[in-house]
This record gives sequence, structure tokens and C-alpha cells, in this order.
Amino acid sequence: MNKPHHTTGKVILAGAGPGDPELVTLKTVRYLQQADVVLTDRLVSDELLSTHVHPQAAIIYVGKQCRRGASTPQETINELLVEYALQGKLVVRLKGGDVSVFSNILDELHTLVRHHIPYEIIPGVTAALGAAAYAGIPLTARGYTKAVRLLTCYQSDVITDAYWEELARTDDTLVFYMSSETLDHIVTNLVRHHIAADKWLAIAEQATTSLQHVHITSLYEYAHTLKGRGFISPAIVIIGKVVALYEQFQWRTNSNSREHYFKPLVRQGIDEPETKELFRHSEPTQRITEQGSTEQSAVSLNAAMVPANAGPQAENAVKDHEHVSRA
Ligand code: SAH
Repeated sequence: MNKPHHTTGKVILAGAGPGDPELVTLKTVRYLQQADVVLTDRLVSDELLSTHVHPQAAIIYVGKQCRRGASTPQETINELLVEYALQGKLVVRLKGGDVSVFSNILDELHTLVRHHIPYEIIPGVTAALGAAAYAGIPLTARGYTKAVRLLTCYQSDVITDAYWEELARTDDTLVFYMSSETLDHIVTNLVRHHIAADKWLAIAEQATTSLQHVHITSLYEYAHTLKGRGFISPAIVIIGKVVALYEQFQWRTNSNSREHYFKPLVRQGIDEPETKELFRHSEPTQRITEQGSTEQSAVSLNAAMVPANAGPQAENAVKDHEHVSRA
């Protein structure tokens, strides 16, 4: 007698690259085309998803929006990975940039191992490399530096004074993720420890996207040039002698638009006509476009599933937020 055969699916942890939808690997594209379910972050281009994810696949937004009070708890993401993999589905967990750089991959790996779920890890172009390339800044240019450090100063107290001193002294290029809001603090500390005057600072907003804008300044002039300025998220900071090469090698015109490339996700009232848009594959979610309105009203559409052509069942799924089986 034939027993129903149940096989565990698989989870692909893949990097989507930093923004430009062409900066994704062929391997990730292949898995996006084959996936039953895609769990994606906010920092993934809509165009990438609409171009490569199969129309019958479900796209679930598990956005993390720092400081906007809207993010999907890691536990929920872990549960979704397990749930779909145990249903035998091919799940792509897509993260902006590279999957393992400043991400919660460790939690997800622990979860997958604990549940004996097979997985693969596919790298992506991390924001430091994408931003540097699209700004014409060679991160480890010969004669300038021998190393690059990937850092974060998300909260002003994460770096000790002794380490600030070391950061001011080293010739390594410093790249700070998630740190545009603590930029004043970073510069103050480096200047306080007498960082060399020929090391410059670049901050790249929405790097590699059509809305990229790069600002550069000497650290000692920062107080008059960039201090107190708000930067469009996501933004990344590069500090070192190599930054001066920007003047010579920049190849991309700055966008002066203040629009967001990665639109903050918003929860739509389920009865609003716009909600229908949630189920269209080509426009995976509704996002607010005006920067001004985002600050007050941004709420992530946490783990709302967006199956293409899923109809009314899917509307309930969005209401319930997390669980729906594919139509
Ligand atoms: N895993 C990602 C990093 C996630 S942390 C990667 O490898 O790139 C999120 C931070 O990455 C943002 O706060 C910002 O500092 C940086 N970042 C991601 N995409 C970016 C982009 N397109 N432009 C500038 N910074 C970006």
C-alpha cells in the first residue's frame, strides 16, 4: 500500500544585494523562480521580486524597520520558516545585501538545525561593497590601506573609548552600517582621538539604487557640512583615506530626489480599495510614498502573506497576519 509521502522542504537563505535589482546572483534568481514561499525583508527591491518570483509563489513581508516601531519578531520569522519547510515547501529567506552581514541569520540557522530542516546559504553583495563600488571608492586601494572593517554604531554606547582610539588610529577603511543616526557621535569620537585629517567621510544614501545620493566631507569640517542632517534610510558610512578617491572616480550622478526607494511598509485597512493591490504579484505591497507621512504612520505589514491570485482567502490571511495555506 502506498503511504502518503511527506518530505521536508528546504530553506534557502539568500542575499538580494544592496538595492540595484541586477546585483543579485544567478543562483538566488534560480531559487526565486522555483520557490513556493519567499520571506523577504524591507531592504529588497520590489523590482527584484516582481521580476523573478514565480506568480504562484507566496511573498511574505517580514520587515524590520529600526526605530519605526514596526518589525516582525524574529520568533515569527523562525516559525514561518519551520512551518513552510515542514509542509514540504521550498522557502527562500531573502535578505538585503548579504545574508550574514548584520542580520539575524544565526537565529534562523539555530532554528533550522533544531528542526532538521535542510538549508543552503547563498551570499549577496553587501551594502559596503555595493555602496563603495557605486561611489567609485576602492575600499582597499593599494597605497592607501590594507584592510576594511565592517562595523556598526547602532547605539552610541556599543563602542568603548579604547576602541574609538584604535579606530581613529588605524589605517583600515571603516564602514559603519545602521549608523546614520549616530553619525555625529562617530565623528566626535574619531576627532576627539585625533584621526588624521586626510581621512574623509562618505555617507551613501540608498546606495546602488536609482535614488543613490553620496555626500562626502572632511571629518574636521563635518560640523559645518553634514552635522545635524537627516539621511534617507538606508544609509552607510565609509571613513578612510580612500574616500578622497571619490572625487576622481565617482561615476554615478547623485539623485536629488528625497523619495524612498525601499518604501516603508504600511498596514492597510482591510476594507480600503487599495488592499486589493496586496494580492497583485507585480505590486507586492502598498507602501507610502511621501516621506513626511511615513514617520507618523508607518506600521509594518508584519508577515502578511501575499499569494498571487489568492482571492478572498488571502484577505483573511492578511487580517490574521500570519497563516494562510496557498489557494
Ligand atoms: N545584510 C545587509 C545589512 C543589513 S543592516 C547587507 O549585507 O548589506 C542594514 C544596514 O545596511 C542599513 O542601515 C545600511 O547601513 C546598510 N544598507 C543596506 N542597504 C543599503 C543601501 N542600499 N544603501 C546604503 N546602505 C545600505
